[in-house]
Amino acid sequence: MASSRVLVIYTGGTIGMVPVDPANPDGTRRPGAKEDVLRYIPGVGARDGIDWELLADPSLPPVDSSDIGAREWLALAAILEREYAHWDGFVILHGTDTMAYTASALSFLCENLAKPVILTGSQTPLFHDRTDGRLNLIHSLRIAGYRATGLPLLAEVAICFGKRVVRGNRARKMSTTDSDAFDSPNLRPLGSIETDVFLDPSLRTQPTGQPFFVHKAMSTGIVDVTIVPGMPAAVLDTLLSGPAIEGALLRTFGQGNFPSNPELLAAITRAAASGKVLVNVTQCPRGRVNMEQYEAGRALADRGVLSAADMTPEAAYTKLAWLLATHSNVSSAMRQNLRGELTPHSSIR
Ligand code: ASP
Repeated sequence: MASSRVLVIYTGGTIGMVPVDPANPDGTRRPGAKEDVLRYIPGVGARDGIDWELLADPSLPPVDSSDIGAREWLALAAILEREYAHWDGFVILHGTDTMAYTASALSFLCENLAKPVILTGSQTPLFHDRTDGRLNLIHSLRIAGYRATGLPLLAEVAICFGKRVVRGNRARKMSTTDSDAFDSPNLRPLGSIETDVFLDPSLRTQPTGQPFFVHKAMSTGIVDVTIVPGMPAAVLDTLLSGPAIEGALLRTFGQGNFPSNPELLAAITRAAASGKVLVNVTQCPRGRVNMEQYEAGRALADRGVLSAADMTPEAAYTKLAWLLATHSNVSSAMRQNLRGELTPHSSIR
């Protein structure tokens, strides 16, 4: 049997959490250390011939994923770049709360990725006898250690959690408690976990064959604005006009519709005229933005607001953050399908 080398990068999250009060295992939890993770997973992967190591990198102390943002996404990408040549694949242990953001960010930061980068975590910690973390880790290792397990190469950033394997930049956390916490509402899962891991060959990403590298910058000047019925223009204006703001997600109604209030529309015109990149993301969990369908959407398109098409808010946010820091033509790149994050209009039947 062939063997496979996998680097498991520990960033924190429930999977590695321990009780603050050891006498109360169901009480408040805090991120545990690398040793707390290792204690509960001896022998995992050995049967499959997977030779793995757990890395707790000094640049990423274990945290609740509420504390993971652009700095940590760049640090993770830098670790992948540093370690890339030495491993067949990567598993990232991460809190579930912001896992979809990190998976999206890494998908954009990694250029010419040709190895699996699988994020996983759990709803119940490894120390707990009802943990889902152990199986999530085993299944993720099976995908990342494809050379040993014979699974097809998944050359992209994905989330393996519960019964599903989903594209990282299509993923959303759908439940605070369900062990199938993630789904990809606008794309079928890349795979499923049944008696074993099954990966759908029709959704496979083809590696470019070009050298792997990672991007080194992301903007943090993006505001994410949920449009609410009857929103006063002064509120929107305040959110969009800050000097640190480079771009905004506008979470609109239905297919990308926005109130007709002229003062609200004037706030959009002002923000666009001052060079801010505005992106229209629907509040609906499924479906896509189509600003041609209604006058209420057309008004935004006429003011230069870009469509997020069927991107998740997490993908739209991280794509915009990446493009603003690294690309000169943000508007055109935002519309393109760069990492499988959106369905081009032309391919909808
Ligand atoms: N608060 C935790 C985190 O995201 C939740 C989890 O991991 O499930 O780090």
